[in-house]
Amino acid sequence: MIKFQSLARDVEIGANSYLLTLGKNRILLDAGMHPKKAGENALPDLGEIDYGSIDAAILSHAHLDHSGAMPVVQRSHPDMPVFMSPATCVLTEALLHNSVNVMTYKREQTGNMDYPLFTHREIGQINKKWRTRKPGRSFSLDSSGKTTCEFHESGHVLGAVSSLIRSEGRTILYSGDLHFEDQTIIRGALLPQSGVDVLILESTRGALARASGYTRESEGERLASSIEQCLSQGGSVMIPLFAMGKTQEIIMLLYELQNKGKLRTMPFHVGGLSIKMTGIYDRFASKVRRNHHDMHMMRTKGLLTTPGKRGEMPGLEPGNIYALSSGMMSERTMSNRLGRQFIQNPRNLVAAVGYADPESPLAKIINSSRGEKVQLDERHDAVERNCSVEAFDFSAHAPREDLIGYIEKLKPEMTILVHGDQPAIDWMEQEVHDRVPETEVVIAEPKHEIVIG
Ligand SMILES: [Zn+2]
Ligand SMILES: [Zn+2]
Repeated sequence: MIKFQSLARDVEIGANSYLLTLGKNRILLDAGMHPKKAGENALPDLGEIDYGSIDAAILSHAHLDHSGAMPVVQRSHPDMPVFMSPATCVLTEALLHNSVNVMTYKREQTGNMDYPLFTHREIGQINKKWRTRKPGRSFSLDSSGKTTCEFHESGHVLGAVSSLIRSEGRTILYSGDLHFEDQTIIRGALLPQSGVDVLILESTRGALARASGYTRESEGERLASSIEQCLSQGGSVMIPLFAMGKTQEIIMLLYELQNKGKLRTMPFHVGGLSIKMTGIYDRFASKVRRNHHDMHMMRTKGLLTTPGKRGEMPGLEPGNIYALSSGMMSERTMSNRLGRQFIQNPRNLVAAVGYADPESPLAKIINSSRGEKVQLDERHDAVERNCSVEAFDFSAHAPREDLIGYIEKLKPEMTILVHGDQPAIDWMEQEVHDRVPETEVVIAEPKHEIVIG
């Protein structure tokens, strides 16, 4: 008997984690940390899982909403191997160490003694159980070899994979986070086109129709022309970016636009965690299937400006492009600290290129009107937002039409919808129901065991 259960505490994108029971084997798919919940509540619901009862775990990619609770799970499963791609291994280690720093700060600020939920020293221990596997090669998930897995590139970010699991005569595909189209660096997903009985599919963009006529290329040109306009009027541009993935993709996109003559040639200011993450992208530049193969961003002359000292803030001057983390301008990050001054200047432009949580400082800027006071950090006074603000779509997730198209092509017996907020899941469920009646569509409700074969 094969069973599937979501360990997330709600139908939402948060602490993504799923349990597959395949006969006697129990396999964990991801163990994420919720970005908005606090302390233990940010972890998946691990309450009913006995010590040492999971045989193996799979980590689809490094983002913390998939990896952030893995150290906690491994604490109660010290012998459990965790399988991931080679790039995910390196990226996850760096992100988890950064997560310890963020949690330590939260403990100081909020007095929440649960933090940090794990330590730097623990990361150095648990990663001894991490096992790297390259896409396209089958490997065993149990000692008897009856349950196997094969990774398939899933686009999205460096190292991201979908997992094709075979057991008990059934084939199950767990998508992880997914993008079918090429981005500037990371190429689109290479997923199986047939032979899948059960599809466990992310639904991130289910509630969002893509603008008609959208292409990544035209969106890039729109960004370049907004930057040009700002710079030619004596302003500076801030692009708040997630340190991993979005930073490298957007800088490379702008580099391409510079080479096409659509954007003036000038370096991008980066700092902090983004430098480390760009270094890791460079390390894998010739080891993975990607565009700009072999190109090392850190070594490309005139591409990046980095601070003289570690952690140093770039100075605020006219005519610069600041490609700083964090992507939502969270408190105590470079984009937030510089942003408090930056947004007061009417010549400047904030270009939002990724997802902004409605409560994030970046969303406050996007939703403000010019001249309105915005508080970017509780410890500091609100400041007037006089700069321009524009939003662009460079999502690393598949648009919903592509997700439905994939289900139509694959025609699995069952499709389990995960990794989506309720409106996204609802749209996907209805659409799959109407357009692919051959597949049984199921929503992964928390605490609910789904029998899949
Ligand atoms: Zn992700
Ligand atoms: Zn995710």
